[in-house]
Amino acid sequence: MKIITAVDKLRSSVTQWRLAGESIAFVPTMGNLHDGHLQLISEAKKHCQHVVVSIFVNPTQFCAGEDFASYPRTISDDQQKLITAGVDCLFLPEVSEMYCPDAKTVVSVAGLSRLYCGAFRPGHFDGVATVVCKLFNMVQADVAVFGQKDFQQLAVIRIMVRDLNIPIKIISVATIREADGLAMSSRNSYLTPAERLIAPLLYRLLSDVKDAIVAGTASFRNLEKDALQRLQAAGFVPDYFTICRSFDLNAAESEDVDLVLLVAARLGKTRLIDNICFYR
Ligand code: AMP
Repeated sequence: MKIITAVDKLRSSVTQWRLAGESIAFVPTMGNLHDGHLQLISEAKKHCQHVVVSIFVNPTQFCAGEDFASYPRTISDDQQKLITAGVDCLFLPEVSEMYCPDAKTVVSVAGLSRLYCGAFRPGHFDGVATVVCKLFNMVQADVAVFGQKDFQQLAVIRIMVRDLNIPIKIISVATIREADGLAMSSRNSYLTPAERLIAPLLYRLLSDVKDAIVAGTASFRNLEKDALQRLQAAGFVPDYFTICRSFDLNAAESEDVDLVLLVAARLGKTRLIDNICFYR
């Protein structure tokens, strides 16, 4: 596996593949790789001859007071996992390679970026859209693979790709979970043993609300209110629990059939997000 830290070196590797008529899939990550990330890589391999993975803890998507400094960085373990997974190239830039000090341009997807996680993490999705747009320009892949775990992020990126005519196909992969239902996440390592026992409630709650909707419960706003109460009773500090239309993430009404339940809640110092997407 090639490990590349400079954009010009990345470009020349990718250009060689392109000149040989070979296709490239790209999987952007912040590292501390788990089975969720590995699932994205295995999906990427189905679509293209070469897979590029980036590991970059992007400072611009963290708000003041968030965990940028303490975000788990496990680069040698990650490298081993990527080699085992058969990745061709790891792009591992420093912050100074990604951003010039007087950068003036921000990619901002209006509307959706201000809702849900965007309301609680101001500027987060501008940071995400900007870095993903830059990475797309650097890698120039045919396909990029993202997890449905970050459902709102995936929606923001799809809109960005559409609006900016970025020539890349976005593929999504279902959330990979621990045996007890907790969505795998690098941030799960922040949980204390006691919190780790409580954390699976997030997915149980999503599943219960889904079941209630499928069984015909019509009052979505009451279901949201009850879900927030259950989270609080279990020791979470919820940011939001919302029943949305999966195609535009607007609040769903009882006649909508294509739904996603989105939740974000803090447990101690850990902020967890999860979702369930379904038809009814
Ligand atoms: P991150 O390293 O957390 O920025 O995530 C990098 C990519 O992995 C994103 O597309 C995430 O949606 C995806 N991802 C993270 N956790 C999971 C998971 N449990 N299942 C599937 N994809 C995931």
